[in-house]
Amino acid sequence: MPFSTLGLSSGALPALQRALRQAGYGAPTPIQRQAVPVLLEGRDVVALAPTGSGKTAAYVLPALQRFFSAPPRKPRVLRQLVLVPTRELALQVADVFATLGRELPRQPRVVCAVGGVSINPQMMALRGGADVVVATPGRLLDLLAHNALSLRHVQLLVLDEADRLLELGFGEELRQILAELPTRRQTALFSATFPGQIEALAAAGLRAPRRLQAVAQAQPDVEQRAIRVDAGRRGELLLSLLDDPQWRQVLVFVGSIREGDRLAGVLRKRGIGVQALHGELSQGRRVRALQAFKDGELQVLVATDVAARGIDVAGLPVVVNYELPRSPVDYPHRIGRTGRAGGKGLAVSFVDAAGLAHWRLICKRNGLQLEPAVRPGFEPMDTAVPTPRVADGSGGIKGRRPSRKDRLRAAAAAAD
Ligand code: AMP
Repeated sequence: MPFSTLGLSSGALPALQRALRQAGYGAPTPIQRQAVPVLLEGRDVVALAPTGSGKTAAYVLPALQRFFSAPPRKPRVLRQLVLVPTRELALQVADVFATLGRELPRQPRVVCAVGGVSINPQMMALRGGADVVVATPGRLLDLLAHNALSLRHVQLLVLDEADRLLELGFGEELRQILAELPTRRQTALFSATFPGQIEALAAAGLRAPRRLQAVAQAQPDVEQRAIRVDAGRRGELLLSLLDDPQWRQVLVFVGSIREGDRLAGVLRKRGIGVQALHGELSQGRRVRALQAFKDGELQVLVATDVAARGIDVAGLPVVVNYELPRSPVDYPHRIGRTGRAGGKGLAVSFVDAAGLAHWRLICKRNGLQLEPAVRPGFEPMDTAVPTPRVADGSGGIKGRRPSRKDRLRAAAAAAD
């Protein structure tokens, strides 16, 4: 089914089709097939659509057509608002607007209003008026408090990655923003999961929404491997794997900012193009690191889970779990960074002696049967699992006390 059957108007369609072709979008993904026609009708939508399903274009295409069909206004009037959980996602959404709108005779002015960077340039950017604002909730409220923009004329509201918005504690901000918006508007909510809070949000903010689900989405084609290795030799193992031509671009997950910086330093010393991506970097450095990775200037990006949210690198061939995710639910999220939009991917997890039990839990929770293999030259020596030194009331050891998460994990493992 081609894009021409989705109900895009004959005025906008040729320009959008040219842009879609240039972007390499052959045919609509399932969520695009379902959501575009409904959004063009003006109805509210609640869509179960994870990252990687093509959800961004599913709302950007109707949004661009809506912009194109409305008579131009001077000064510009803010008609479309997209709320996202992270700065990275905001920049990606703005990028999709620019990519898919590039062939239209008139392009919308899209302003990103995100936290973590100075507010002044955003206030300046809004002074000239914007057609679309892509915002994180906290910064949007700050800008509203500064009278830098008005939401009174918003006709389309998109809540993207709504589950992450709530997970990151933006519930109250969302309620405040909803209260500022006109009640007569179209609302589209996209979420990868549907906890009760999302239902409540949908019930409070949407009118008789059509419920959509990208069920027919093919499972990402990701080959999963696990390698048993001593903790102290993970760096060497990674270096040996980086010689493989398939490993031209690798996203490496670590568990902490410190480990990310340390590993990036080790790889850099060995001549690998690498950057660390984590929450302690300035927004400018994060954007530059991500762009350099996307442009192929870096072979390796070392990231923590939080920083990696919303990262979308087209055709990323390999993801490495240098350290296993603490929570088994983060495992599919991590490996889903590769094998997107029909491409093939490889996900490799490093498992040391202390992580074996946790690896089994990850497998069990994700319906996976994958015993770690041994790579010649990296045969593990530290087969003895170090006993965690647990505070026993006798004073304990500072910093070795199991965290709440550790206890929950131990309890879950014991229950299995
Ligand atoms: P999203 O779910 O919006 O984050 O999109 C995931 C990836 O799929 C992005 O790299 C998009 O560029 C790509 N994509 C979205 N729609 C299509 C399509 N119809 N055909 C091919 N690639 C697509």
